Amino acid sequence: MNIEDFIRDIPDFPKEGIVFKDITPLLLSPEALKETTSLLLKMVGNSKIDKVIGMESRGFFFATLLARELDAGFIPVRKPNKLPAKTISESYGLEYGSDILEIHEDAINEGDKILIHDDVLATGGTAEAVCKMVQRLGGEIIQCNFLIELTFLKGADKLKGYNLQSLIKY
Ligand code: 5GP
Repeated sequence: MNIEDFIRDIPDFPKEGIVFKDITPLLLSPEALKETTSLLLKMVGNSKIDKVIGMESRGFFFATLLARELDAGFIPVRKPNKLPAKTISESYGLEYGSDILEIHEDAINEGDKILIHDDVLATGGTAEAVCKMVQRLGGEIIQCNFLIELTFLKGADKLKGYNLQSLIKY
């Protein structure tokens, strides 16, 4: 099975000039969903993971599935004012706009082994902000794990020094 067959290009979404990688066909197919989860897991290897972080909102899908398979907990990183308890935040630049991300302060304990997952690595602003928050809370980042890396946007440059793994590169 070729996972790429389940990812479609949507031109001019969410803004003119952007070609959006839509993963909803991949989520819709039971076989593709299973295969993608298993390939993402293979990238993690045998490293012990305590918690998997998923970024709102498309990062939630596979981060939760990975957490389940890894016997780890799941931590949501969300847009401002969505998380109910005490948070820390970081601002970040996006391919289209800029925003703030938040994480619950008590979600990570000192020394926790953390897997960060998102569907797409574009400019790397989102992942960089998450890495900063994990470090502020004393977590150890084992891997930054992506389904898709848009290499031409050079997100990897922002994640130098981290173990970066992407399943599909465009
Ligand atoms: P970055 O901060 O790396 O520029 O952007 C990554 C974030 O934007 C990810 O959370 C991802 O969900 C979203 N994103 C950016 N471009 C795309 C895209 O083409 N397709 C999808 N599915 N998400 C994208």
